[in-house]
Amino acid sequence: MDDLKSLIREVPDFPKEGILFYDVTTLLKDVQGLGEVLKRLTEPFEGLDIHKVIGIESRGFIFAPTVAQRIGAGFVPVRKPGKLPAGTISASYDLEYGQDELEIHKDAINVGENVLIIDDLIATGGTAAATVELVRRLGGNVIAAAFLVELEFLNGRQKLDGVDIFSILQY
Ligand code: AMP
Repeated sequence: MDDLKSLIREVPDFPKEGILFYDVTTLLKDVQGLGEVLKRLTEPFEGLDIHKVIGIESRGFIFAPTVAQRIGAGFVPVRKPGKLPAGTISASYDLEYGQDELEIHKDAINVGENVLIIDDLIATGGTAAATVELVRRLGGNVIAAAFLVELEFLNGRQKLDGVDIFSILQY
């Protein structure tokens, strides 16, 4: 596990002062690192009858389609406002300063479908919690949420009530 940690570049004061940014591009370009992460994001979810894997814009898009294809599910993007072209629903969530919003196509999830949510990193949990809300409003069952990195000291898990949470690396 620590070998994977060494592949993630830690960039201080990005995108603003005081934030330590976990840059996964250095892991993605490493053939073994990429393979290992995709394997670990896939294995826990094989055989769970998951119908859709959601990737959260934008770094969730890097992992979710491959995991979806490997477990026999479809891929669904959850995006920032104004990007999805057809009918959407949206959920807002708190940022450090102000609010942001995420959208999903109304027809992306069918009632009763089992859904896995993927993003690169969970920090405060606001982004993932808004995504859980979108899925539930469409009638989907959130089976689990999976992340490459979990910033445990921010307690993001607490915002994801009733959701199984997996993370590969914890800080
Ligand atoms: P949060 O809603 O606070 O859990 O933030 C999670 C989202 O913000 C994810 O989509 C991450 O990609 C991004 N993010 C938050 N904090 C960091 C960080 N320290 N390094 C890299 N990405 C981050």
